[in-house]
Amino acid sequence: MMREAWPMKAKGKPPTCRDVLALLTEYMEGGMPPAVAADLTRHLEGCAACGRFLDSLKTTRTAVNRLRCDQVPDEVHARLRGFLRAAGGRA
Ligand SMILES: [Zn+2]
Repeated sequence: MMREAWPMKAKGKPPTCRDVLALLTEYMEGGMPPAVAADLTRHLEGCAACGRFLDSLKTTRTAVNRLRCDQVPDEVHARLRGFLRAAGGRA
């Protein structure tokens, strides 16, 4: 089982909100091993907060992709940081 795509220490454990959000853009671009994507999907299906964040990220990315496909706007980074702070208390 190839798990090296996890940036982390959380090897062999289910991903936390923090892990999921760190990999979310990669997940959306499909650039990760299927086993890792499956873990993220499982988490996203069971976690309302991350599911909502994915939705908002998708909406933003769709808008951004019409302009530049290689640029994530500052707004997304700011929202991600804010979300991670909020999620950090529970994760
Ligand atoms: Zn979550």
